[in-house]
Formats: sequence, structure tokens, C-alpha cells
Amino acid sequence: MYVSVHAVTGAATALTLEAAGVPAALAVGASVLTHVILDAIPHHDYRTFPAAVVDLALAFGILQLLAASGWVTNTSMLWLGGFAGAAPDLEIIAVHWRAISYARARFPSHTGRLPHPQLPFIPGILPPVLVAGLAMLVIRWV
Ligand SMILES: [Zn+2]
Repeated sequence: MYVSVHAVTGAATALTLEAAGVPAALAVGASVLTHVILDAIPHHDYRTFPAAVVDLALAFGILQLLAASGWVTNTSMLWLGGFAGAAPDLEIIAVHWRAISYARARFPSHTGRLPHPQLPFIPGILPPVLVAGLAMLVIRWV
């Protein structure tokens, strides 16, 4: 799943749980777990470093827009949850940068220990768009 989708979903998870009274550390930890769940949904993944850079910039841009939108009062939780949800993909960006090989990846959904089903761009773009849209709605209304 794309970094930007992980970031928005992680932010939505942390904000929702924190608003429900869950301690901040647990809310942020749950954001990391959303990475496993999202990677288990069949989706498209890019395979190039330039695409990874665009996706990373998109993640920062979306979180920055949300922080500036006035929709979110707890911007610390927005950024922490967003980072926690996306952080496992830093190793994938390193793979695309050729800083490490895929064999050095450690996150379970990146090593094959947990499911990570892939789809071609079409229809594989649909799940990330739907998940990101749902996460944005959650952030809007939490
Ligand atoms: Zn991942």
C-alpha cells in the first residue's frame, strides 16, 4: 500500500483512539498495526524510487494540509499517528533507493511472513483511494 495511504490511515487511527480516551502511546502503536491490515488488502504498489519520493511528498503534503485545515485540533497526534502508520515503509523506500536489498526488509508484511497481495495498477489503485478517502472522512468527523 502507498506510504500516503498508510500515513492518513495511521493518523485517523491515532486521532480516533486518542479521542476515545486510549492513552496516546497505545493509539500510536495501533497506527503501526494498521500497516499490516492495509498491506493485507489487495492493492497496487509502485516499484521505482521516483514514485516513492512522490508518494512520500504526498504523505507529508496531505498531513500538512490536514494540520492546517482546522479539522484537527491535536496536530501532534496527527503527525505521530501518520508517521507510525507509514514508518514501516521507510525500509521499502530504502529498497527502491537501492540502499538495502529486499532480503534485508524486516517488517512482516514486506518479508512474506504476512500477506501482501498485489494487483496491477488498474484495479489496484482503487483500494488505496477508497481507504484514504475513508480515513480522511474519519479525520474530518473525529
Ligand atoms: Zn508496507
